[in-house]
Amino acid sequence: MDIHSALVEFKAHPGVTGIFSDLDGTLSAIARTPESASITPDVREALTMLNEKYKVVGIVSGRDSDDAKRMVELEGLLYIGSHGLEWIEEGRRHYAPQVKKYFGMAPSLYNELSDYFAKTDIRVEKKSLGAALHYRLSADKDAALALIEPVVEKMLAKYPMQVVRGRFVVELKPDVAQDKGGAIVAICQREELSKALYLGDDVTDIDAFRALRKLEETENFKAVSVAVASNEAADEVAEAADFTLAGVDEVEALLRWLAE
Ligand SMILES: [Mg+2]
Repeated sequence: MDIHSALVEFKAHPGVTGIFSDLDGTLSAIARTPESASITPDVREALTMLNEKYKVVGIVSGRDSDDAKRMVELEGLLYIGSHGLEWIEEGRRHYAPQVKKYFGMAPSLYNELSDYFAKTDIRVEKKSLGAALHYRLSADKDAALALIEPVVEKMLAKYPMQVVRGRFVVELKPDVAQDKGGAIVAICQREELSKALYLGDDVTDIDAFRALRKLEETENFKAVSVAVASNEAADEVAEAADFTLAGVDEVEALLRWLAE
């Protein structure tokens, strides 16, 4: 079955359908730094059209939810940030249980990491609940990782964090049992959705693919998961999805077709 055939029923029943998408690498082309990433006016327009039609349109990111919202610049969408640990809904921020104590911890984690990597080409990203180490700009990626790993081990001994690895990024996030998948499933159940589409390009998106598939097994629910391919993405992302798209342009075309 092709992707359009798989989604015909979604288009026909938008009132019980959720459209969920990762941001970086899925709705926006990967940029040299997180701050320089942006979405195009065409993608923004497609999201606007989708939001007029479907019950839920959610952006699901590793960024802080307010950072994701700043980048997408659309009111009315659901913004799930920090890999599912906090979200903005109808203008209000919400947090998963046990997350708030990390607001106090994250700044000192960031300061320590900044000291460690001050004289390197590794960039430390400050996040409200943790920090991320980006080595996209490092000339020697293996050498960068060799610097990163022992420091991460030290931080794990000191802070109750867990490690998340992605496309040229190693992140420390709260060691709380919640991920993108758990966050989406909670929304699907609360909104009584019976169909959900999820698009993503990185390993943390696999959590969402799997959680939706599990929902399919236990409830009257239909899920479609779509991986966005790149020469950087791990093969396991495409292997875990139902379909694969070649890049952000194909994502935009699919979103437009869904919105028609
Ligand atoms: Mg991504």
